[in-house]
Amino acid sequence: MTLIDIHKHIKACHDCPLRAGCKAPVPGVYFRPTTDPCVMFVGEGPGAEEDGKEPFIGPSGQMLRSMIEEVPIHNAYLTNMVKCRPPNNRDPHPSEINACNHHLEAEIQAINPKVIVAVGRYAMAQFLPDDLITKARGKPHIVHGRVVLPIIHTAAALRRPEWVPVIAGDLRLIPRLLDTPLESNDSAKLTIL
Ligand code: URA
Repeated sequence: MTLIDIHKHIKACHDCPLRAGCKAPVPGVYFRPTTDPCVMFVGEGPGAEEDGKEPFIGPSGQMLRSMIEEVPIHNAYLTNMVKCRPPNNRDPHPSEINACNHHLEAEIQAINPKVIVAVGRYAMAQFLPDDLITKARGKPHIVHGRVVLPIIHTAAALRRPEWVPVIAGDLRLIPRLLDTPLESNDSAKLTIL
């Protein structure tokens, strides 16, 4: 499926109850697109500012976008685990994450990123279910042939500014991850970078 078709499916989706409580589903969006390899950022779900618009445009999203610019990362794709805003920004339920997962999978297949940045613990749990975000952050793992780099969510850094340099440092690993060959399928090689 092309990304255009995937976005059409997302916008027309009624697969879970979240759709009834939001303005409109929010498909992913390219940020600073170039012909460089794409780095995919997966957040939790749209917030009030993003509802019906695009991912990561509220305060925590702006912080993430400026950190991406600072690295700099060229060619990012920003998306979320769930495409519809959970009511009152509550955490998405496992059933909602499961119902939405085929959209995320389709985006991953279409974009084919070498590196996926899992933004926050919910996104991390999708790829690395048994890890704690505070332990796993900044450690790249190979999952199904892609590098998954969990980071602390920038929403947490709005409340605790001491996370800002930690997130920025973790994002600075990305250019090296893009340059490291994956053929060994060995996470350890990546974690010692
Ligand atoms: N905005 C998003 O789009 N996703 C998040 O996870 C947080 C804010």
